Amino acid sequence: MEEKTLREVMVKIGLERVDTQEGITVEALLDSGATELVMSSEFARKQGFKFKKLERPMQVRNVDGSFNKEGLIENTVEVNIYYKRHVERTEIDVIGGQKWSVILGMPWLARHNPEINWRTGEVKMTRCPEEYGKQWRPVQGKSGWEKQKEEEAREEKEERRKKKEKRKN
Ligand SMILES: [Zn+2]
Repeated sequence: MEEKTLREVMVKIGLERVDTQEGITVEALLDSGATELVMSSEFARKQGFKFKKLERPMQVRNVDGSFNKEGLIENTVEVNIYYKRHVERTEIDVIGGQKWSVILGMPWLARHNPEINWRTGEVKMTRCPEEYGKQWRPVQGKSGWEKQKEEEAREEKEERRKKKEKRKN
């Protein structure tokens, strides 16, 4: 049987508002075709992220450099992102009409350079350059971090359970 290659890899990340330090976990798409980090405006509104208006709106560009039909990026949100002990504070562009709540595009992938298994969807954070780790400032609040740790512990437990199950059969 031919093994299928995934076209989309998603990861569960912790996201924290920097104004209230409230945290949530959310499924984010890893997308090397995205030129930026993107949050859907519907998701951002629902979660109460505080919009920061750009002085000069930016045209959304596709990877090939052409202009995207979604139009202008007028707002960003500032967040702390947590994933497998990797923390960073960053601004994310807010765009409407997105299928995904959050897309971690090329800037994030380039910074952390994760190992991605395109058959299993497994993501390993093994190649993050040390200097980035030092630059990243954690962190006002802890709730995003705590939730993310809980989530990852749950996932690890589930993984172990599945492996055990496999050995039994
Ligand atoms: Zn990293």
